[in-house]
Amino acid sequence: MFNAILLNKNEDGSTKAEITQLDDAQLPEDGDVTVAVDYSTINYKDGLAITGKSPVVRKWPMVPGIDGAGTVIASSHASWKAGDAFVLNGWGVGENHMGCLSGRAKLKGDWLIPMPQGMSSRTAMAIGTAGYTAMLCVMALAEQGVKPGDGEVLVTGASGGVGSVAVAILAARGYKVVASTGKLAEADYLTSLGAAEVMDRAALSAAGKPLQKERWAGVVDSVGSHTLANAVAQTRYGGAVTACGLAQGMDFPGSVAPFILRGVKLIGVDSVMAPQARRIAAWSNLASEIKDDMLAKITQEISLAEALAWAPKILAGEVRGRLVVNVKA
Ligand code: NDP
Repeated sequence: MFNAILLNKNEDGSTKAEITQLDDAQLPEDGDVTVAVDYSTINYKDGLAITGKSPVVRKWPMVPGIDGAGTVIASSHASWKAGDAFVLNGWGVGENHMGCLSGRAKLKGDWLIPMPQGMSSRTAMAIGTAGYTAMLCVMALAEQGVKPGDGEVLVTGASGGVGSVAVAILAARGYKVVASTGKLAEADYLTSLGAAEVMDRAALSAAGKPLQKERWAGVVDSVGSHTLANAVAQTRYGGAVTACGLAQGMDFPGSVAPFILRGVKLIGVDSVMAPQARRIAAWSNLASEIKDDMLAKITQEISLAEALAWAPKILAGEVRGRLVVNVKA
């Protein structure tokens, strides 16, 4: 038996989340690798699943947890054997396949990637989908030709999981980072991660003009809505904007003007179905670029039981950085 968070649907359609004990027989049949999970995380999407605020859970009952790291216990998949260390991000795990906020999981070997050399399960989950997505955004900016000397790079939702890691990675790569946040009290935190300037997100969150004064060489946006539209409208000629999130909203109330008059590029970033080669490249970069002292500033460790209370807080934008879940605690 092992501990897990289990989600069930109440008669009124709301979500019931509780800590329970499961056994291997309750794990999904369509997995070919059984794993011991050491650490998982609470990402924004896990917050949506546990609270039921958005219909991200497609099968019931469900174990949430889109991320996991630990060790293979048993495998019928050719690439995996008992004792191998793995990282798992996305692929619908925690949405339509039982996830990793659990002592054990039964996953598909095709979804797992090998733990980068020298990285612990805890470090991998302190980074989690949020950090891996931040790296996908930074890689996309670099591929679009945005270089450290080109000018300021804006990171929105900067005190959140994606934002914090993006600030740190970009600053370490030599970019001049401007961190947009609703938590101005966290200005010192953002500066300690490497932000050159901290700005109040209120300057970006209301409706703005289609073309505004050119400022950003690049943008990492995890917020969407007016913030994304304003960021695009303020991006310099030929600059690039990566869009990965919707913390403010799923809408994009923008104009084509920045695209057709300034050649601004808008790059969508998805972590969930990203191909394995892209994931491995991102995790390899994370292994070499993320430093322990930086991650310690960003990370807070919580237990499985505490994860239930933290889920609504991440949706309310109250979490600073990353929540790593010790599933054995
Ligand atoms: P967090 O909750 O950790 O961070 C989101 C941050 O956005 C908050 O901390 C807050 O930062 C800011 N924010 C919250 N509400 C608002 C609002 N109403 N208006 C403006 N800013 C707001 O979440 P994550 O970092 O884990 O995820 C961020 C987003 O990225 C989510 O929408 C998530 O679904 C998405 N995502 C997408 C992925 C993909 O594959 N495309 C993968 C991972 C995440 P501050 O207070 O500093 O402004």
